[in-house]
Amino acid sequence: MHIKENIEKIRKEIIETAKNSGRNPEEIKLVVVTKTHSAEIVDEALEAGAKYIAENKIQESEDKLPKLKNKYEEFHFIGHLQSNKIKKLMPMRPTLIHSIDKISTAKKLNNYLGKENLTQNILIQINTSGEISKSGIEPNELVGFLEEISQLKNLHIQGLMTIGLNSPDESKVRQNFHELNKLFELNKNNPYDNVEMKYLSMGMTNDFKIAIEEGSNIVRIGSAIFGKRIY
Ligand SMILES: *Cc1c(COP(=O)(O)O)cnc(C)c1O
Repeated sequence: MHIKENIEKIRKEIIETAKNSGRNPEEIKLVVVTKTHSAEIVDEALEAGAKYIAENKIQESEDKLPKLKNKYEEFHFIGHLQSNKIKKLMPMRPTLIHSIDKISTAKKLNNYLGKENLTQNILIQINTSGEISKSGIEPNELVGFLEEISQLKNLHIQGLMTIGLNSPDESKVRQNFHELNKLFELNKNNPYDNVEMKYLSMGMTNDFKIAIEEGSNIVRIGSAIFGKRIY
């Protein structure tokens, strides 16, 4: 594996794509998705300059993070969060949970945080592709969702996340990202003191350039850095 070269290549591509679309490359965060890869491999990525790492499974994170020899600046949780796993996730201090899409889970998270006197930064996951297999609320549910979730005062809602359609048809993928960006912009002006539209998390190995062109400021990249995942 050529982790260092791969990270450098991705960084270059992020910078180039941002510049070509008139954006400041420094506002785009590269989150390195380390799921399925061993602590040794993740350590290599950290040595190669990765700063922000992401996992999608609680158990795997619990096993892996304590084994890391190198420091990371931020740990992001990008997977489906089951409410019975909240108390396992929180001691890992995720900088950002990208994937909140249920009020019931949000309430349980908020209760947990309240008891511990903590707050948590989260994003709301939106299903922009319309695939039934995908998590996330429907785009037209966002306004109502914000109204409810904004009452949970230990949560800080910092933006939106989506997984684009897995398709070779670039225009369809772009449409998903375009729609998320529209929602992001529309909801910047909202009446809630714990809701801000700061992060737009979209773009993975196959579509991060399109996502950046459509306004993403967090890309979540695994395979382009570590190669294909073996489950
Ligand atoms: C696995 C995963 C990624 C990274 O996917 P790649 O195509 O390997 O870059 C990004 N986001 C989420 C939510 C994931 O589960």
